Amino acid sequence: MNEYHMTPGQFREEGKKLIDWIADYYEQVEQYPVLSQVKPGEIKKQLPEMPPLSGEPFDKMLADVDRIIMPGITHWQSPNFFAYFPANTSFPAILGDLLSSGLGVQGMLWATSPAATELETRVMDWLAEMLELPQAFRSTSTGGGVIQDTASSSALAAVLAAREKVTRFSGNEKGVQQKLVAYVSAQTHSSVEKAVKIAGIGRENLRMIDVDEKFALRPNLLREQIRQDRESGFLPFFVCATIGTTSSNAVDPIRKIGEICRDENLWLHIDGAMSGTALLCPEFRFHADGLELADSFCFNPHKWMFTNFDCDCFWVADRQHLINTFSILPEYLRNQATESGEVFDYRDWHIQLGRRFRSLKLWFVIRHYGVEGLQFHIRKHVQLARWFAEQVSLSPHFELVTSPPFNLVCFRHNGTDEFNLQLMNEINLSGKIFFSHTKLAGRVVLRMSIAQTHTTKKQVERAWQLITETAERLRNN
Ligand SMILES: *Cc1c(COP(=O)(O)O)cnc(C)c1O
Repeated sequence: MNEYHMTPGQFREEGKKLIDWIADYYEQVEQYPVLSQVKPGEIKKQLPEMPPLSGEPFDKMLADVDRIIMPGITHWQSPNFFAYFPANTSFPAILGDLLSSGLGVQGMLWATSPAATELETRVMDWLAEMLELPQAFRSTSTGGGVIQDTASSSALAAVLAAREKVTRFSGNEKGVQQKLVAYVSAQTHSSVEKAVKIAGIGRENLRMIDVDEKFALRPNLLREQIRQDRESGFLPFFVCATIGTTSSNAVDPIRKIGEICRDENLWLHIDGAMSGTALLCPEFRFHADGLELADSFCFNPHKWMFTNFDCDCFWVADRQHLINTFSILPEYLRNQATESGEVFDYRDWHIQLGRRFRSLKLWFVIRHYGVEGLQFHIRKHVQLARWFAEQVSLSPHFELVTSPPFNLVCFRHNGTDEFNLQLMNEINLSGKIFFSHTKLAGRVVLRMSIAQTHTTKKQVERAWQLITETAERLRNN
């Protein structure tokens, strides 16, 4: 031991073991029950109450991972994981994350590690090109992209920038004096409600606009609500529309909403956290028609683009709004590059100061797969979802609740809500697959989210078989 530190030699040795461990894990992941079977407290009681006084060998830690931690893991990377939303990973992303840990740089300013900033700018422009985002979102134009931890942080950044824009940056200085109102649909992700609360707008000033039969925001109701609010002395300032809602994958009519926002001078944020990745393929881009009317857009490579959590990509059409909202320059961070105005300092583009070198893992992913490799996998997931949806439509016992635009299938057994939940719980407890549910139009709906890195037709066929066989058994009980 070198004054307690792990030496480079030990790191080399233990690190290789850990890489082997991870590779083994992926080879064997289907052998585990997908949903962890432990009871509350079961993991904690196996962990000592007090920390060790003397350091312990790495082998012992790794053994405890196998013995204590693994039973408490729900295997998100299993090809039989169909719950909630994807959080798919890939080996290039894991290696990129490892390299980021290894370099251990802080990329808050250009000057604190120029490569961290410039690689991020380049990769975000690549992605803008890959998704065919409007010109304004490129760093070479008025806007640009920045990597955030999550879509929740992007929503908050958008709400804050919108607040500052509408108050001419007096919100930052004097607090919010006006009665601001924001608009979402009844199906918008809860992170926007949270952002509105945190930004001091107040939840009472968030209007949840009703949706149509496809669960998409109804633009005429939005226009009417804005009119009423203005009449009552409110100041409308922000709208969030979604490409692929979490619950049902609904796509809001971006162009119509965008035209309202343009007429009314409101900030439009487009949340593509879960399904924005589909824009990689030209055949899905019609869903984003009207995106040039938006002020900001985000999607999560950490959901459906083989990039380990966390990685949310956030673009704005005018970076000055963002920078004016978040910029702050204490003496100890003053430097020539910043003063020259020639560089981006990404700490001015979000809430936190310190930032990880996240663009490395994205760069590795994009270079490993290439644009066509990513398109191949997105199309494969959508095809599998369509196959599953077709089986549902053909079955006399199940119904399709919405026709899937992407890779999420919403369906239900044509029995009671209780029957559907019982069916799902029974299957999930078996550990063979894991899927989840939601409520749409007051009814329990089952969800199959098909997007894990190693999911193939085999697992999807088996899942359908398991669901139909279990339903039959329960019906006969
Ligand atoms: C998952 C999701 C979010 C929140 O994502 P985080 O990155 O975990 O904050 C927001 N919006 C939509 C549509 C989502 O699916």
